[in-house]
Amino acid sequence: MSEEIKGLVHSTESFGSVDGPGIRFIFFMQGCKMRCQFCHNPDTWAMKTENSKLRTVDDCLEEALRYRDYWGEKGGITVSGGEPMLQLEFVTELFRKAKELGIHTTLDSCGKPFTRKEPFFSQFNELLNVTDLILLDLKQMNPLRHKELTSLTNDNIIELANYLSEVGQPVWIRHVLVPTKTDFDEDLIKLDNFVKTLSNVVKFEVLPYHTMGEFKWRELGIPYPLEGLEPPTKDRVENAKELLHTKDYTRYKEI
Ligand code: SF4
Repeated sequence: MSEEIKGLVHSTESFGSVDGPGIRFIFFMQGCKMRCQFCHNPDTWAMKTENSKLRTVDDCLEEALRYRDYWGEKGGITVSGGEPMLQLEFVTELFRKAKELGIHTTLDSCGKPFTRKEPFFSQFNELLNVTDLILLDLKQMNPLRHKELTSLTNDNIIELANYLSEVGQPVWIRHVLVPTKTDFDEDLIKLDNFVKTLSNVVKFEVLPYHTMGEFKWRELGIPYPLEGLEPPTKDRVENAKELLHTKDYTRYKEI
């Protein structure tokens, strides 16, 4: 049966070191409905492209397993994107088979597809049963600035964060610090207050905005909305870390 489930994979990375604990094999899934102005993977947005490949779970696992010797105790596989929750059935099956092989599984998501409505909710809970860790981006607590930054609202992303806390699913929160978009003390304080209400956060990271993906926008012929915007200064990154109390979230070492 599982051979029938296929996923549209944009690309893979053999030695990921930032998207989850240890060394990881990363699958970047095709498709995302958000339009983050700082996105460094706009080539994953379309639900299908000439370059993405429709792949089976077994084919994906076989490729990842070639690198298992490098993962050590902490590493494993991460599914990122694009937005992996748009291909929930495929990711669930991939993780289910990975867990059968004792592999650590991490989902890297923007959270936007989350809903408590069926059939999504039951399928999502099935995914949680085989997911060790979720990397969740909280991009902006201010609803208006969130919409301006990403094109969509943040209500169900917040709801997802609350739900994951409710069920005790370990989560790394990541916040991209973008000057003039997310780097406002008032919004950082709001984010700090919100994350403090969650009981499942094992790591909290500030990711400074960078321009490394800008060339992809040019290649796709899409105007880059942050043209000329510089990355945040070291002082602003330190300021964000302090306001968010990121040092307080170090429980990831235990999982
Ligand atoms: S959610 Fe991720 S992939 Fe989608 S637009 Fe935003 S940064 Fe890009």
